[in-house]
Amino acid sequence: MSISYDAIVIGTGAGGGTLALHLAQAGKNILILERGSFLPQEKLNWDTQAVFLDNRYHTKEIWQDKDGKDLHPQQAYYVGGQTKVYGAAMFRMRAEDFGVIQHKGGVSPAWPISYAELEPYYTRAEELFHVHGDLGTAPRVPGGFGSSFDPTEPFHSKKYPYPAFANEPRMQVIEDDVRKLGINTFPIPLGLKRNEADPLASQCVRCDTCDGYPCLVHAKSDSDINCIRKILHLPNVTLMTNSRVTRLLTNAEGTAVTGVEVIHAGVGKPYAALSAVGETSAPSASREGKTAIYKAGFFAVCAGAINSAVLLLASANDKHPKGLANRSDQVGRNFMYHQADALLALSTVRNDDAYTKTWGTNDFYLKDTDPAYPFPLGQVQPVGSFHHEMMKGDAPPLTPGFVLEGMKHHAVPWWLTTEDLPSAENRVTLHNATPLSIESNQPGLSGAHPSGDTGSTNETELVNNHSPRRIQLSYTPNNVESFDRLKDRWIDVLKKAGHATTHVPLHAYFKKRIPLEGVGHQNGTCRMGHDATTSVLDVHCKAHDLDNLYVVDASCFVSASAVNPSLTIIANAIRVSDHLLQERLK
Ligand SMILES: Cc1cc2nc3c(=O)[nH]c(=O)nc-3n(C[C@H](O)[C@H](O)[C@H](O)COP(=O)(O)OP(=O)(O)OC[C@H]3O[C@@H](n4cnc5c(N)ncnc54)[C@H](O)[C@@H]3O)c2cc1C
Ligand code: SF4
Repeated sequence: MSISYDAIVIGTGAGGGTLALHLAQAGKNILILERGSFLPQEKLNWDTQAVFLDNRYHTKEIWQDKDGKDLHPQQAYYVGGQTKVYGAAMFRMRAEDFGVIQHKGGVSPAWPISYAELEPYYTRAEELFHVHGDLGTAPRVPGGFGSSFDPTEPFHSKKYPYPAFANEPRMQVIEDDVRKLGINTFPIPLGLKRNEADPLASQCVRCDTCDGYPCLVHAKSDSDINCIRKILHLPNVTLMTNSRVTRLLTNAEGTAVTGVEVIHAGVGKPYAALSAVGETSAPSASREGKTAIYKAGFFAVCAGAINSAVLLLASANDKHPKGLANRSDQVGRNFMYHQADALLALSTVRNDDAYTKTWGTNDFYLKDTDPAYPFPLGQVQPVGSFHHEMMKGDAPPLTPGFVLEGMKHHAVPWWLTTEDLPSAENRVTLHNATPLSIESNQPGLSGAHPSGDTGSTNETELVNNHSPRRIQLSYTPNNVESFDRLKDRWIDVLKKAGHATTHVPLHAYFKKRIPLEGVGHQNGTCRMGHDATTSVLDVHCKAHDLDNLYVVDASCFVSASAVNPSLTIIANAIRVSDHLLQERLK
């Protein structure tokens, strides 16, 4: 007998994990389908060669760029999604980001919700993801507290739940010197479980392998640890890993989703054997690479901005010939992932700090300092972890390792972000209907990564995804002038402060030399809006075109802002959960 669930949640990243947690804790009978496995907890979690050069935790899927060239995305398919490897910088978007902003490169459009509407959910998201931060003297402002550190910080109805991380010595000196120039700096809000007051009792050991790495000791707040593992014991929760949703099926009228088609890829490994981590047995028909169909009252696609669009496009049928929920022709369009770059500031002074992501500045966020250029530039923050191996790809050929290692000890890595703007031609499409000629392997599998990096990978489980089509990611950068200005501004500040005798751009933070492969901040492919002809989702993230289909991840972003996206994805998922529980699942 087939089970019908209250809801099926597809994907367990920032959006899906958060949504699943809230529905499960409200007692709803949910099925969670995740294409990846649990990320192995192993010493290689903290091995720079394995993580950054061998792509140990990246998919082996090959996508295409707009010219049809191979693209090896830095995409992690695991329980917890990209939050397994993220840097856990947990920013609220600025209040201005929810309105229209004129950039040099074009217009950043308004969201259908305001900052004030999302604020209570930001507060809950900070609690759920254990965010450390500091508003300073927290001056009273309308709605709550402002920040005495950062004039761009929007109001908080509550202060941060955990105290900010302190600087280590080198970052403290640089912050002091930058402040002397009149720059406002603030502590970076971080979702890490650190007890600075009592380090012996701290889960987080404040190591130098955090940003971009999985956390070996599970002290990073990610949606695997903070959401999914909290609900696995519940009788109303079924999690199926290695279970890739390939299609959504609708009723004959095309008005509602009735089921999902799933390929289970737990080859040779029955799901019951994984019960130690709480997975329940999948129906026997679903094992061993077989396809199964599951039914529910409503469906939440939370596969990340690229894969959620892919899933809708791949679910085209006679009632939705351009793809599900795509009457507007907006599914897959408006792909954004930030103008972002890592920049190494080299100085003669040694840097022995371990964890550097402790302060940043938003002084260029809303406008340039040059009155003749009245446009926003973006945000500056340090990279949390930096190792000389990461420079290999950018250094001149045959540069000896000891030279790079020497450079590393005199470098501070900075992460600069400028908003990229939605453009209809920046889009995710399915390239053709020809099956891939190679197995579309999951990460953590035997064999070399197809990008050419030859590192050995984890030989845990053979998975054939049966990927029916190839993902094409077409992207032409925009708003580039503001990004270049931001880099110039920051180099200038560091030089004036005496902390950059020279600088080099470093593309290795998100591992690869070709920036489009670093799709960590992907968003925008199923945007929210009031107008069904120009947007995919309504204000509650329900597809305009279907009664029971929701998309709850970074896809719904209307604009990208210039801050890291996760806290907004999580806050929005809590907002949608509340709506569902109050209106749809009473
Ligand atoms: C190296 C790195 C550093 C980052 N640092 C930060 C940071 O400091 N701060 C910040 O805010 N953000 C950061 N990010 C970005 C952040 O991780 C993402 O914005 C966030 O995880 C996106 O959430 P999501 O729910 O949209 O998608 P994801 O987290 O990607 O989750 C999507 C889930 O869906 C699953 N899935 C995909 N397709 C299917 C399918 N067909 N069937 C079933 N399951 C499927 C995936 O396996 C995954 O579990 C970083 C990202 C990276 C890669
Ligand atoms: S800094 Fe803390 S949270 Fe980050 S990887 Fe190290 S121990 Fe884990």
